[in-house]
Amino acid sequence: MAVFKLDNVEDLYEIGEILGSGHFGQVREVRERATGTRWAAKFLKLRRNASSRLGLERKNVEREVEILQALQHGNIMALRDVFENRAEVVLIVELISGGELFDFIAAKESLTESEAIEFIEQILQGVGYMHSKNIAHFDLKPENIMLSDKDSLLPDIKIIDFGLAQCLTQGEEYRSMCGTPQYIAPEVINYTPLSVATDMWSIGVITYILLSGMSPFQGDTNEETLRNIVEMNYEFDDRHFKQTTAMAKDFIQKLLVKEQSERMTAEECLLHPWIKPLTKKQAANRKRSSINMRNFKKFNARRKWKMSYNMVSACTHLSRMQLLCKTRDTENQELRQCESDQEDTETNRASLMRRRLSSSS
Ligand code: ATP
Repeated sequence: MAVFKLDNVEDLYEIGEILGSGHFGQVREVRERATGTRWAAKFLKLRRNASSRLGLERKNVEREVEILQALQHGNIMALRDVFENRAEVVLIVELISGGELFDFIAAKESLTESEAIEFIEQILQGVGYMHSKNIAHFDLKPENIMLSDKDSLLPDIKIIDFGLAQCLTQGEEYRSMCGTPQYIAPEVINYTPLSVATDMWSIGVITYILLSGMSPFQGDTNEETLRNIVEMNYEFDDRHFKQTTAMAKDFIQKLLVKEQSERMTAEECLLHPWIKPLTKKQAANRKRSSINMRNFKKFNARRKWKMSYNMVSACTHLSRMQLLCKTRDTENQELRQCESDQEDTETNRASLMRRRLSSSS
């Protein structure tokens, strides 16, 4: 068992304002007493005993720490130090002050495809780096893509929240029942082995939303969304994609591929002509096309509203569905038997379940 520093974190850091809340604790700004440097501290509550439902299992915290320790990249939140006491583990991490990428974009009047690509390229660099170390994030979604500093003209992307990340070992299968319906890949719903390609699917969904303000598989209920994903039921509706280049659509199409081995890898994405144009014409097209800002603002407002609206049922239903799915014969049968649900937001209980389920798979 890893032992973290036992010092009292408050002796070394002055605790400041709350920056955000996760399902297992808060993230606060802190100031290092010795140097005056500002950091963020992620307080993770530990489960007191095996029968308790509150808090995180220590082994899950250790995994998150080990993964962050293994990752040193400009587009990934850096870990500085780890402290523990009986009740919690405190991660001292790089302070990321630019907020979420989607909020930054939604505040703009307009954005060309080339400007959007600058961000996507950085996401790909961070994800490509973690994949080169066989680490998969498994929770890529707009909430986990932040910016270093929103005052800069082109802020750096910072990928956060490695709570569901896994270091994949060759020859070992990893299955999971976790994620947010809109962003999960078919292999998650089908409870078949996951891989780093599972993250690439999520990048396809994020890119689709970024360009159109529409979520590719979104149904009226979570069940419908999940069905759309397993049936690959999505399209590039002309109304929402009229300003989008063919190259951008090609990029997305090569990520929203059911078969994991056929999806583009992060490395391949970085060489795709939409990201790295081969001709002047391709480069010019990207500058002329713009993202659907009206829709995007609407999408983001709805996303923020859903985030603040605590609903318990979604993930619980997802997990229950997936448990059912494991034992059912056909996909159609599986989906028919599932209960309907309203939204795909996660809550304390839902996340608790998702982490517990993920750690047991
Ligand atoms: P979840 O339960 O959603 O998995 P979590 O408990 O793992 O969340 P994070 O997602 O890592 O927690 O952080 C919660 C929130 O705190 C983020 O959405 C973000 O707003 C804020 N936050 C996290 N890390 C930082 C950071 N390094 N700098 C600034 N704010 C941060």
